[in-house]
Amino acid sequence: MKNTPSKDKESESANRMDNDLHKLFLDELSDLYSAEKQLTQALPKMIKAAISPELKEAIQAHLKETQNQVSRLEEVAESVGEELDEKTCAAMKGIIEEAGELLDEQKGKSSLDAAIIAAAQKVEHYEIASYGTVRAWAEQMGHDDAAQLLQETLDEESAADEKLTEVAATVGNESGEDRRENE
Ligand code: ZN
Ligand code: FE
Ligand code: FE
Ligand code: FE
Repeated sequence: MKNTPSKDKESESANRMDNDLHKLFLDELSDLYSAEKQLTQALPKMIKAAISPELKEAIQAHLKETQNQVSRLEEVAESVGEELDEKTCAAMKGIIEEAGELLDEQKGKSSLDAAIIAAAQKVEHYEIASYGTVRAWAEQMGHDDAAQLLQETLDEESAADEKLTEVAATVGNESGEDRRENE
């Protein structure tokens, strides 16, 4: 039964599916490459704007990771013998634009740090969704090295998101205390 025409057709369509998925995988990696590069430019502005030293430190630490994530994506592409294309992640561009507007609106307000955390968590959630997807595709196609590298970044994005949630709790407490002290 192995060499029946219908079996050949099946494997042909399986090959096509793999090829299409491989191309989609590379497109998505190039999109993330753009997203991470945009973030290396945008995060310093958030660090500068943040009031809480803990928040500044958290974003600073993630900026370092982000710079490393840019080169890790190059490694991912190399691991499958490919190169990344130059493209623009429109979604990250939009998230960063909105963050910029929010920061302008919040200048001088006690809610500024809360706004920065909100914007930063939207960034992390976009990244978590995207890296989760490409990691799963890498596994599906048997790109084990790529999958492992993408998992490393995914773990960093998740940890950054959790750190922001922690900082958000302290930022809220501090401003609450400040308010009480000022009464
Ligand atoms: Zn592939
Ligand atoms: Fe990242
Ligand atoms: Fe994107
Ligand atoms: Fe991130």
